[in-house]
Amino acid sequence: MKKILSMVFGLLLLVGLTGCNNANENREEFKVVTTFFPMYDFTRNIVGDLGSVSMVVPAGVDSHHFEPSARDIANIEQANAFVFSSEEMESWVHSTLESINTESVKVIEASAGIEMMAWDGEGSTDHSHDHDSEDHSHDDDHGHEDDHDHDHDSDGHDHDHSHDYDPHVWLSPVLAIRQVENIRDGLIQAYPEHEEAFRNNAQAYIEKLEVLDREFHEALDGASQRTIVTQHMAFAYLAREYNLHAVSIAGISPDHEPSAARLAELKHFVEDNDIRVIYFSETANDAVAATLASETGVELAVLNPLESLTQAQIDAGEDYLSIMRANLQALLLSVR
Ligand code: ZN
Repeated sequence: MKKILSMVFGLLLLVGLTGCNNANENREEFKVVTTFFPMYDFTRNIVGDLGSVSMVVPAGVDSHHFEPSARDIANIEQANAFVFSSEEMESWVHSTLESINTESVKVIEASAGIEMMAWDGEGSTDHSHDHDSEDHSHDDDHGHEDDHDHDHDSDGHDHDHSHDYDPHVWLSPVLAIRQVENIRDGLIQAYPEHEEAFRNNAQAYIEKLEVLDREFHEALDGASQRTIVTQHMAFAYLAREYNLHAVSIAGISPDHEPSAARLAELKHFVEDNDIRVIYFSETANDAVAATLASETGVELAVLNPLESLTQAQIDAGEDYLSIMRANLQALLLSVR
């Protein structure tokens, strides 16, 4: 009897386990790997609870100069879909995708079809603007001391093509909507069975982005002072959308003390243009920011390019919408 009971129990256990396995197989969960925060945020709003969405670039890491680890690359290869913004932004994506078998990975470029602006530093106070002035890596550290007079691209640095176009399209809420539509359409191609859910989720999120766009218009449209000065030349699309004049204080790395000449130049610009605020990204070094503030007599404020959120921001539930609203509040310090 005891034997029969244990046999029955064993059988039940077996049924239970098999049942479990079947349930797992039948759950249509899929894995989407995304590159950096806005791609992650847009994608998870479309996917909802239909699949899992992860992000390759870790919290607090510069997404311009990120290099994926072997594990990151394996994660991308094993994903069902991979979402990135553009090769101009995530310059590591091209070689990563070439190095792996992407047959079973739906690759989705969120910026596809969006016409990018030339990356020529237009609006910069300095002809030598180079996006790499914000590079924290060692290989061009020596360039910072004198990049007031030099253009990195012409002084022996062999950078990739990724700076020919301005990649920061997501910072315009209108272009963010285009990215959401691209991600939605890519996911629908990969999972036609979820088309309705993807469309509904994307539509609900797009409506939130449209509200954000209206808030920017309402707050900024009537302003007469429309020049903003930023450390990171990331806000050209945002500026174009809302008719602002974005000037970058190029050549000043957050890691290095600006030269006296650069400070003097900046001071003139600030005075001539009645600038009251200079915008830094959150990662800016406080000592440099303090020097700039005291030398130029302006306030400093954070304008977040959303390239990398800190772990604290992620833990606090910050997202594209909340940070863009904080950016709008920051803009109102100088746009008036
Ligand atoms: Zn950037």
